[in-house]
Amino acid sequence: MKGRGSRVWDLDGNEYLDLCGKFGANILGHNDERYVEGIAGTLREISAANLGTAECETAELICAFVPGAEMVRFSLSGTDAVQNALRLARAHTGKNRFIRFHTHYHGSADNLLGGAVGDLAHPVPREFPGDAADTLGKARDVLRDQSFLLPWNDAEALARVLDAHGDDVAAVLMEPVCMNGGGVWPAPGYLENVRRLCDAHGALLVFDEIITGFRMGPGGAQEQLGVTPDLTTLGKAMAGGALPVSAVAGSREVMRLYEDRRVVHGGTFNGYPLGMAAVRSTLRILRDSGGAGHLEMAKRLRGITTALLDAAERHGFRLEMRGIDACGIFHFAEDGPSRGRSQHLPLMLLGEALAGHGILASNLNRLYGNLSLTPSDEEFFAQRIEDAFTSVRASLRKLLA
Ligand code: PMP
Repeated sequence: MKGRGSRVWDLDGNEYLDLCGKFGANILGHNDERYVEGIAGTLREISAANLGTAECETAELICAFVPGAEMVRFSLSGTDAVQNALRLARAHTGKNRFIRFHTHYHGSADNLLGGAVGDLAHPVPREFPGDAADTLGKARDVLRDQSFLLPWNDAEALARVLDAHGDDVAAVLMEPVCMNGGGVWPAPGYLENVRRLCDAHGALLVFDEIITGFRMGPGGAQEQLGVTPDLTTLGKAMAGGALPVSAVAGSREVMRLYEDRRVVHGGTFNGYPLGMAAVRSTLRILRDSGGAGHLEMAKRLRGITTALLDAAERHGFRLEMRGIDACGIFHFAEDGPSRGRSQHLPLMLLGEALAGHGILASNLNRLYGNLSLTPSDEEFFAQRIEDAFTSVRASLRKLLA
C-alpha cells in the first residue's frame, strides 16, 4: 500500500481517492514532505525520552489555536483523553456524574458505550438487548452509576436535569457539532444556553473535539461557534494521521490539578517525542497556511459533494449531505441524519460501491477532506461516481427481487 496526496494504491496497484483518511486523522494528505521531514528529523535525534524538545512549541501552538486551551496534557487515544477530562472534572467539582447525549460518541470506554433512557426526569441510562452502540464485557453498573443520558439540542431537558440533579453533575460532555450522530449542528443559542447552565450549576463544560478539532478550522468548533468550554479533548487530525496523539486542554484553573499532582495522569508514552513532532509539524503547516488550506479543502469537498448529490439524483436516490466543510456525511433524505435501520442497506451498498470504484469513504458514510485535495481529485470522483450508483442500483434490484 502506498499513498501520495489524496490517493492511495493497494498491493495490486489499484488507485483510490482516500476520503476516509484514517477516520479523519489524515488532515494533510499522504506523504506531505514537511510532515515526513518533521517526524524523521526527530527520529534521527531521539527514540524515546521523558523530556523532548517538541512539546513546548506543540502545546503553545494548541493554546494559540484553540480558544479554551490555556494548558495542555498529551495522551494517546481519544478514548484516553475523554476519560482524563472526566477525571479532571470530578476532581475540580467534587461531584461524580456526567451528562452525555444520545448519538454522541466519545470512545470505547465502558462508561460511554450504549444505554437508553425512558424517563427524562431521571435519565439514568439502562442497557437493553440488541443495543448496537453497546458491547459485551462491560463492567457492571458503570452507565447507571456515572452518567445521565439526554437528547441533545434540547436546553430545557438539560435545565430540568441540572435543576434536579446538578449537585451531583461534574461535567456536561458533548460533541459541539454532533458528527457521530450524523453531522447535526447545534440549534441557534443552544451552546450558549448549555454554557450558562453549566456555570449556574457548577458543572464543567467539556467539548469533545476529537473530530472537529483542527478540522473545522485551526480553532475547531469552539472558535467557529463562539462558545468556549472548560475542557476540550483533541485527537485524530492534531497529529496528522501517522501517529496516535490525543490531548486534553483547558483552563489553567482546572488543568493546574495536574501540575500539583492532585490528579494522576499516567501513561508511559504520554508526550512521546515522535508524536510531539507529528503534532508540531501538522500545526506548523496549518499555521503557515493561514486558513487558506482549510478554504481550499472546503472548496474541493464541495465539488465532490455536488458530484455525489447530482449523480444520486440522476439515479433516482434522494441523498442529503450534512456535517462540516471538512467532513461531509451523506444520508438518504427521507430518513434524516440518523443511524436508522431503514438507511442501513442502501448506505452499506453505497459505501461498498464507492470502494469498488476507487473511492474510500469512512464508515458511517463520511467523506473526510484533507489539505492536499486538488481539482484532479474532484474529476476522479466525478468519473467514478456514476458507475458506483449503477452498482448500487443493480445490487438493490438483486437483493429486493
Ligand atoms: N470522541 C469522538 C468525537 C470520536 O469521534 C472518537 C473516535 N471516532 C473518539 C472520541 C475516540 O477516539 P479514539 O478512537 O482515538 O479512542
